[in-house]
Amino acid sequence: MRKKIVAGNWKMNMTPSQAVELCETLKPLVAGSEADVVFCVPAIDIVPVVEAVKGTNIEVGGENLYFEDKGAYTGEISADMLLDAGCKYVIIGHSERRDYFKETDAIVNKKVKKAIEKGLTPIMCCGESLEQREQGITLDWIRMQIKIGLQGVDAADVAKMVIAYEPIWAIGTGVTATTEQAQEVCGAIRECIAEIYCRETADAVRIQYGGSVNAGNAAELFSQPDIDGGLVGGASLKADFGVIANA
Ligand code: PEP
Repeated sequence: MRKKIVAGNWKMNMTPSQAVELCETLKPLVAGSEADVVFCVPAIDIVPVVEAVKGTNIEVGGENLYFEDKGAYTGEISADMLLDAGCKYVIIGHSERRDYFKETDAIVNKKVKKAIEKGLTPIMCCGESLEQREQGITLDWIRMQIKIGLQGVDAADVAKMVIAYEPIWAIGTGVTATTEQAQEVCGAIRECIAEIYCRETADAVRIQYGGSVNAGNAAELFSQPDIDGGLVGGASLKADFGVIANA
């Protein structure tokens, strides 16, 4: 039985003091959740957020990492830095990073491997554009992202990681994938993992849906057989996240 996981992606929002305030608002609202609850926050917010959620059911994650251990990579953040600051999770390959910062599947793969090597749980994102969906190549595209993203990753490590299916056309648009669309792709991701690895690995990996999840649609999405929770952007910055975490 897979435990659900609901993660907030704060993106480039919340100064450190605003971040602490938001934690104070959300802590009681997510306290009763039966899911794993994760706040993925901007790098500068990690230390104050870890401090603010100490002793609660909330874990903290980064929004990105660099695949080298350390050195002359101005502006980047390493897996060791995230770990030492108190992170357990890290988002890798979000579509905004793929689009604005030109992250390829090969780079995503290096980052996933680095996160696992260091003991962070990657939340590896994948998702198709509207054009790809209209061309009817969604499942081919997603399968390619999964296969390259997981190249060289052991089955035992895949079983412990999280994959987030986030159709690009649904992110931040208010247009949520239908429950059927979300389940179809999440199911296809699980089948792809069964093909590459084995049934046991596919049954263990947790697959989230992300893309305009809100307090009104979360429960139905999360009740699908292959959807193990959500990666939540906009709604993670307000009290609605409490409803979503309890969905
Ligand atoms: C996201 O950025 O991961 C996301 C799902 O955003 P939103 O919930 O705002 O669509």
